[in-house]
Amino acid sequence: MKVPDLEQASEILKHRFGYDSFRMNQEAVISCVLSGRDCVVLMPTGGGKSLCYQIPALILDGLTVVISPLIALMKDQVDALRSNGVEAAFLNSTQTAAEQVEIFRSIRSGSLKLLYVAPERLLQSEDKFIEFLRGINVSLFAVDEAHCISSWGHDFRPEYIQLGRLKTNFPQIPVIALTATADKLVRKDIVERLEIRYAEVFRSSFNRPNIFYAIEPKQNSYNKLLDFLEERKGESGIVYCLSRASVDSLADDLQAEGYAALPYHAGLDKAVRDRHQTAFLNDDAKIIVATIAFGMGIDKSNVRFVVHMDLPKNIESYYQETGRAGRDGLQSNSLLFFSWGDVQKLRSFAAVDGNPQQTEIMLRKLDQMATYGDLKTCRRKFLLEYFSEDFAGRCGHCDNCTTKFEYFDGTVVAQKALSAVYRTGQRFGMKYIIDFLRGSQAKSIREEHKQLKTYGIGGDIPRDDWFDHIKELIDLGLLKKSDGEYPVLQLTDASMDILRGNGKVELVRSKVTETKTGLVERESPPYIQELFEILRRLRANLAKSGNTPPYVVFADTSLIEMATYLPQNETEIKRVSGVGDLKFEKYGRAFLVEVQRYCASHSLNSRIHLKRRTRSKSPEKRGKSKVSTHHTSFSMFRNGMSISDIAAERNLGVSTIEGHLARFVESGEIHLDELVPVEKITAIQQAIQECDNPEGWLSPIKEMLGEDYTYGEIRAVLAAKNS
Ligand code: ADP
Ligand code: ZN
Repeated sequence: MKVPDLEQASEILKHRFGYDSFRMNQEAVISCVLSGRDCVVLMPTGGGKSLCYQIPALILDGLTVVISPLIALMKDQVDALRSNGVEAAFLNSTQTAAEQVEIFRSIRSGSLKLLYVAPERLLQSEDKFIEFLRGINVSLFAVDEAHCISSWGHDFRPEYIQLGRLKTNFPQIPVIALTATADKLVRKDIVERLEIRYAEVFRSSFNRPNIFYAIEPKQNSYNKLLDFLEERKGESGIVYCLSRASVDSLADDLQAEGYAALPYHAGLDKAVRDRHQTAFLNDDAKIIVATIAFGMGIDKSNVRFVVHMDLPKNIESYYQETGRAGRDGLQSNSLLFFSWGDVQKLRSFAAVDGNPQQTEIMLRKLDQMATYGDLKTCRRKFLLEYFSEDFAGRCGHCDNCTTKFEYFDGTVVAQKALSAVYRTGQRFGMKYIIDFLRGSQAKSIREEHKQLKTYGIGGDIPRDDWFDHIKELIDLGLLKKSDGEYPVLQLTDASMDILRGNGKVELVRSKVTETKTGLVERESPPYIQELFEILRRLRANLAKSGNTPPYVVFADTSLIEMATYLPQNETEIKRVSGVGDLKFEKYGRAFLVEVQRYCASHSLNSRIHLKRRTRSKSPEKRGKSKVSTHHTSFSMFRNGMSISDIAAERNLGVSTIEGHLARFVESGEIHLDELVPVEKITAIQQAIQECDNPEGWLSPIKEMLGEDYTYGEIRAVLAAKNS
């Protein structure tokens, strides 16, 4: 098997982009792309998906075409690439004919390395553009935000469906699909609809350890927001609201409080919108108050907090929006104001016209969002498990992990609730039961129910507390919620014990000790604050005169490293993260001068020796340590090697390799008949059925089948059953 030469990739990473080492799966993905295979990359927002195709684009001979749904995103990415000396351009409807002609010319001349286009542009006007691409040397197609192709996803875009034609038109050209959605069904859709069935799938952890997740009840939320902002004066953040009207009024209010806050939503003039966005990117406006129209394609790395005043529609959106905080890896906060009223409101918006199946998906996703909002356990664990990732224990870095709950004997409270459910026949939802318990006079309460003894027995407990208690009773398994659009509360086996007076129930009283709203203990910064401010001003000036956003000059992380390690010469400053060769020439010198000047006047020396040098191992070795062992077997298998060859080459047992590959049968990336001869599959399936061993032990099945069948074959069929 040819191991692609990754030396060049590391060179480019260091000298073009100024980074020391690859993150997550970047190196494995790049290696896969360079060897000409299709791949699917699942990485959280801020994980570093772009480099996965930008680096191959620079290594491969020819043009990389990037399909991306959003015009704003294209411009930012292209600006950032150009600042690193990469020949990149985008094509879209905002450009004049003359500008477009110029771009076509640079493509033909072969000087352009990356071209960003929207899917509709790619496939419009009778495939003229496709024809054009046929005439030039295209090396790679990158499909960004690839989840838009799936109707199971939260952001389905019909124009993406057409992208299947890429593979039919250009069967030889590799496709890399990238997304921050990890849903299994979405992944399946991506692979099928892009017709990249044999694509290698790379999944990184979705954990964003530097983000602290917190939720507050949505009462008095404006004052709570002010408290939160008070702690974060001078920091940059996004505050999301559901409606344009609330965006406008909140931005006004915050301005009146003295905050540099600006509104952003689709109802504003484009010129105003652009102005506000630029002010935010340039750190002139610290806070942007926005509808979700804002943020796609915002690559501002020093966003310190994201606040949701209203509930997002689903976990995917929430995670993507909160993920805009802390891309630079520094401590950041996410705060959401949660209420059941929001859940009700969103339910009424969830319907997708004429598509009951899609409506159902949206409702289910909303339900999960609500569960998250009301969670008493670790938020990160819930989020990661939502994205099918195991997370053992508690994270210690979310509000629930840092909150101590106080419990009280809630047996009587539980008995009241359970008997209300029982007496009304287990046919009513939470809201009705609470109204019933509180003795509401509402017309909706049935006359016959008003005659019952239990009617009104919970009048002493406030409505909101009842919601909490009933949710907890559900979590404790003492009540259950039926499925369907109008879920009703029902009793469980365990509830009868409590009703009969056997057993106690502990309920949560309230949060007592709590770290203040998502506030993370701040350590004093390891860098020299004063120097950091000087460098920040220099950055602002350079950005203004170059007409680029400050983060394109250098990210906060780079400035912080400069103010920490105090580099004194070219070699030293190039060890700072984000300082590549071109950026050094363009901006780095000016920063070096400032650092030198500061150090001279304060008698300080370089501290660069304190920066850990990331050891550069041989690329081959590094590849191995990053790629999991079963992925290595899978790659070799995809390269046409037999199982026994792989075992010999890797010095592992045949059954080990079979085990590795079985995982990919389960995930659908290997078809069962690639591992097991078709004529054997039915016999094995029958044996599995006859054996009836729910633990899935292999040996009884093997015994039944005899010598001609291997453990590996049985394991593969079992895996296919689970897929
Ligand atoms: P995504 O598209 O996955 O949301 P990006 O590709 O925009 O993420 O990358 C997020 C940030 O991380 C960018 O500022 C990018 O330059 C930076 N980044 C990417 N890869 C690395 C790396 N290997 N080392 C340091 N920073 C990186
Ligand atoms: Zn936690």
